[in-house]
Amino acid sequence: MSESRESALLADVPDGLFIGGRWRAAEGGRTLTVRDPATGQPVKTIADASVADGAAALDAADAAFPAWSRTPHRERAELLRRAFDLLQERREDVALLMTVEMGKPLAEARGEVTYGGEFLRWFGEEAARIQGRYGANPEGTGRMIVSRHAVGPCYLITPWNFPLAMATRKIAPALAAGCTVVIKPAELTPLTTLYFTKLLQDAGLPAGVVNVLTTSRSGAVSEPIIRDPRLRKLSFTGSTPVGQRLLAQAAEGVLRTSMELGGNAPFLVFDDADLDRAVDGALAAKFRNVGQACTAANRFLVHRSVADEFAARVTERVREMRIGRGTEEGVVIGPLIDDRAVAKAHALVTDAVERGATVRTGGREVPGPGTFYEPTVVSDVQFGSDILREEIFGPVLAIVPFDDEDEAVRLANDTEYGLVSYVYTESLARGQRMIDRLETGMMGLNVGVLSNAAAPFGGWKLSGLGREGGAEGIDEYLQTKYTLTADP
Ligand code: NAD
Repeated sequence: MSESRESALLADVPDGLFIGGRWRAAEGGRTLTVRDPATGQPVKTIADASVADGAAALDAADAAFPAWSRTPHRERAELLRRAFDLLQERREDVALLMTVEMGKPLAEARGEVTYGGEFLRWFGEEAARIQGRYGANPEGTGRMIVSRHAVGPCYLITPWNFPLAMATRKIAPALAAGCTVVIKPAELTPLTTLYFTKLLQDAGLPAGVVNVLTTSRSGAVSEPIIRDPRLRKLSFTGSTPVGQRLLAQAAEGVLRTSMELGGNAPFLVFDDADLDRAVDGALAAKFRNVGQACTAANRFLVHRSVADEFAARVTERVREMRIGRGTEEGVVIGPLIDDRAVAKAHALVTDAVERGATVRTGGREVPGPGTFYEPTVVSDVQFGSDILREEIFGPVLAIVPFDDEDEAVRLANDTEYGLVSYVYTESLARGQRMIDRLETGMMGLNVGVLSNAAAPFGGWKLSGLGREGGAEGIDEYLQTKYTLTADP
């Protein structure tokens, strides 16, 4: 990958806040610097919004709402479709930008462009199908009209791990429904959102419909927006503790909220599983995005009769994984997002080993520059180890043996989270029992990656509220009105 291509691309990324259809500096000219986690080097300096900038962004979203919510659905759909087409044209740029600011290998960044783009297409299609109903009431004394309306200005907060997809998964349904938005990307990876906003502008985005705040002071800037009575919806993707705090703030205004929070996904391998498929699925579910996904498999629960063979096979494959900057050919393990992430992965491995687990491969930090951790397999992890409770968010595959189906289900459900579960079995009956018994918002049955714009993504328990994607995704941005009309 040529350095000049990277520099030209970075120069093309806007460095301002986008408010009311204009790019502008932050109040007082404050800036923040974005770094490449593979090198630790600064890549671009951008605006760092203040509380006053936040208020200006909400002013703009509020002012644009009446007109945008009345825009014909087809027009909203066409804007999203043009954005989808432009994204296809610029896919190599967007992918490279994500690799530079977030670290994921280029092949995965391209995959994210495909996945993230699908939300534009899907919700563009859904926009034209927002419908209500009409019918006589049961008493026959009147006609009931049920209509659907945009909820109002929305505040969207996204995490750093999927810089494009987390933005499109929120912006597309909001715009399709007729809402206007203020989006605040993660401070570590804001460049993709800035680039994407420029793309939306090129697609014909009206002023004020999307406003972008980049800031190093997320809490201070967000709280007044969330507490402002003009805001009608908060959609957050990130960690559970931050989500809980934001829910408390949102309670005051009785805001509609969508919360996509943390996970602790079990990956169950039964004795009747196809082990080749299970190994392939395990590697995808664990090492995609270097383990930095809310859907990453966190606990590999494997039937005792196949646990050793499973561990041996995954270890062999993990040993072949190449570590490096995501732009280099053949790299599958990029950097972790920062040194805290490296320290966390290492602390979890150390704790597991102190409690009796065996490191099959990896288990070490990689010396800098950049924030890398070796892809790691630990087996015979003992109950009580932190790695079974906490979201690892790193390239560590932890294996725990189980003896029967009831124990597997008990262990799988023994978590406060309930985002996704993976199950490998060749038995249809067992697969169906798992659908009934696992406490999870999503389940992969003999597959290790399942996200799809056409499917409702979201969790149970502390993993969140609401759904993104599918027919459900647009409902989060619509509210219902019932009207009774006198019988003619
Ligand atoms: P995070 O909670 O630290 O940050 C998420 C976003 O919230 C960022 O934009 C951050 O700047 C902002 N933020 C932080 N503190 C804030 C505050 N007090 N007020 C307002 N905004 C605040 O999470 P992260 O480290 O960026 O992301 C990793 C987490 O996100 C993991 O727990 C992961 O499971 C979760 N996640 C969930 C999903 C999902 O769909 N369920 C998807 C991706 C990531």
